[in-house]
Amino acid sequence: MLERTPVPSDRKAFIASHIAQISEEQLLGHLESLVGVRHPVTAPEGLRAGGAYIAGQMKSFGLDLLEETIEGEHNERFVNLIGRESGGRSGKKILVIGAHYDTVAESPGADDNASGLAVMLEMARILAPLRGKLTPQFVAFSLEEEGFWEAITTRGRFAEIRSPSGGR
Ligand SMILES: [Zn+2]
Repeated sequence: MLERTPVPSDRKAFIASHIAQISEEQLLGHLESLVGVRHPVTAPEGLRAGGAYIAGQMKSFGLDLLEETIEGEHNERFVNLIGRESGGRSGKKILVIGAHYDTVAESPGADDNASGLAVMLEMARILAPLRGKLTPQFVAFSLEEEGFWEAITTRGRFAEIRSPSGGR
């Protein structure tokens, strides 16, 4: 059981203390572990290895891991990886923090989107022990480059998805 950390009234100091926990070493480690072609057709093993790395990291932070399966046209199995706080939801609202882990066919996908995954994993590490009004869920999406992002956002799996950069 993880120790629960209530959000204190002194929010500025609380936020600053958590920003101070962001580790360049962690971010670079994730990036170096993830860079490589992760495409469902040209590099399915890379896609699986990327997913396994992300799943392992989420578990190491004490998150419960949920795998949402997507079946491909030829019965291939792809998964969205959802890291959730252990012991069920503490807050009424869910905040989804996500990035996709597939790449286009020939790209090592460092910027698109291993950099996003590195930030998501570092946020997961720092936020996993916290309990507050919002329940964060850390989601690594597969097949975003194949158009599944639209499916996720339009079919109502998640009520509202915002990208801070305005991009994908
Ligand atoms: Zn992308």
